[in-house]
Amino acid sequence: MNVDEIKEIKALLSTPQNVVIVPHRNPDGDAIGASLAMYHYLNNKGHKATVVAPNDYPNFLKWLPDSKETFKFDMQNRQSKSALEEASIVFLLDFNALHRVGSDMQNTLEKYDGTFIMIDHHQQPDTIAKYLYSDVSICSTCQMVYHFLEKLDDVSAITPEIATCIYVGIMTDTGSFRFPSTTSTTHRIIADLIDKGAENAKIHNNVYDTNSYGRLQLLGRALSNLVVINKFKTAYITLSQQELDEFNFEKGDTEGVVNYALSLEGVIFAAIFIEDVEQQIIKISLRSKGSFSVNKFSREHFDGGGHDNAAGGKSTISLDDTISKFLSVLPNHQKDLLNSYEA
Ligand code: 5GP
Ligand code: MN
Repeated sequence: MNVDEIKEIKALLSTPQNVVIVPHRNPDGDAIGASLAMYHYLNNKGHKATVVAPNDYPNFLKWLPDSKETFKFDMQNRQSKSALEEASIVFLLDFNALHRVGSDMQNTLEKYDGTFIMIDHHQQPDTIAKYLYSDVSICSTCQMVYHFLEKLDDVSAITPEIATCIYVGIMTDTGSFRFPSTTSTTHRIIADLIDKGAENAKIHNNVYDTNSYGRLQLLGRALSNLVVINKFKTAYITLSQQELDEFNFEKGDTEGVVNYALSLEGVIFAAIFIEDVEQQIIKISLRSKGSFSVNKFSREHFDGGGHDNAAGGKSTISLDDTISKFLSVLPNHQKDLLNSYEA
């Protein structure tokens, strides 16, 4: 996003606009944090902004300021479509390609003829937006929203609500400030957000210490299903639909579980395979340490993508067959796996 483009965006936003803000499907803390931060910023500036999420998100994000005001495209289809019809600008936040919103919403967005502004930190963004702010080196889209406000010379417009939303996305996408994408700039921004009213201890508590009993029991099952393959420095976890049902699975309950596999000493590649009978897919989350790119691995084998050290994908064969496929491709990556990371 160059200086001229920023000027154009400033000019666009100098009069009140109808704006829709779209995060990716199954939005996480970064996607929802960025969307609600932008929502508060634009509404405070006199625009009419609406967040339209493709579908619902976990309860541990529902306490965010004005979370209740977001439309879910699958549940509130009519309201979502009319918000999009009225919008002169659509922000696409925390995703790099339209298919990431799911096919229904993708069809609607493909017909949209207003201005798209994409802010995203995933690799290989599609060139669908008139204005693209892409930087794969930045830890989170939320940090990019902060930089976007810097570019607009409007960091002073950050209220406690906006600071809280941005904090949440930076915190969740950096694993609480521990992933290599966390820089001194990230910490400086976090310090500024605290100065601007983000209550750090409360935010961590609201996101991480609001587990249900069922979620912890499900984590117990996931850990007992953990398989380690030492010769590939790899560990994986499976959860069948039956197991999810047994522990009254709710959206978000499996978030972060894959990181337990990666926390094993010596493991640099971790995967979780979660059966979803309704969607008839196996949802896959992949994590790595060092140079082994799970983005590449997922694009190659599991119809997905993401970042080098955190990616997702899916498979349309059975859970057992998916595991067999995973195990059968691992030997092709042995060299990269063994050379990926020195502790
Ligand atoms: P998660 O495993 O938490 O679902 O996703 C990890 C990262 O990969 C996130 O940044 C997410 O946006 C991205 N991601 C997840 N699934 C997909 C996918 O199917 N395609 C692409 N391109 N990225 C994905
Ligand atoms: Mn993100």
